Amino acid sequence: MTEERCIFCEIIAGAIPAAVVYEDEESIAFLDITPINQGHVLVVPKHHSRNIFDARHETLAPLMRSVQKIAHAVRAGTGAEGINIHMNNESAAGQAVFHTHIHIIPRFHEDGIVMWKGHPYSDGEMQKLATQIKTALL
Ligand code: 5GP
Ligand code: ZN
Repeated sequence: MTEERCIFCEIIAGAIPAAVVYEDEESIAFLDITPINQGHVLVVPKHHSRNIFDARHETLAPLMRSVQKIAHAVRAGTGAEGINIHMNNESAAGQAVFHTHIHIIPRFHEDGIVMWKGHPYSDGEMQKLATQIKTALL
């Protein structure tokens, strides 16, 4: 738990209500309060971390097990034709709640949700970026 108020830690503690669909020792999943599509679920580790950059391996491995389990349940429970698994890390990437979480979003053909568009590399850029990232690996 951080010094600041964390809304997801409060949900985990039961201090504020949520429409919980799954809970185990390490994770909890509840409906997003402003769903992209109905049945949009957030899967949240009980151990507080900010996002992918400070979460422990011991937090992320069981989290992904829960994500897969809940993805099956969201698909079956909503009749979704597909599922997006999404994670925002830091405000530049759209993170608004700074407690690690994964979005499970039910999708339907022609549901009107527009995904972001890719842009091709210009000459030489792709290899340059690959080298920069490879060099930065810890
Ligand atoms: P982020 O942009 O940080 O990845 O997403 C945070 C998500 O948490 C948003 O989609 C938002 O709707 C959801 N959210 C924020 N506050 C609450 C809350 O109090 N309860 C629930 N169930 N969802 C919340
Ligand atoms: Zn928290």
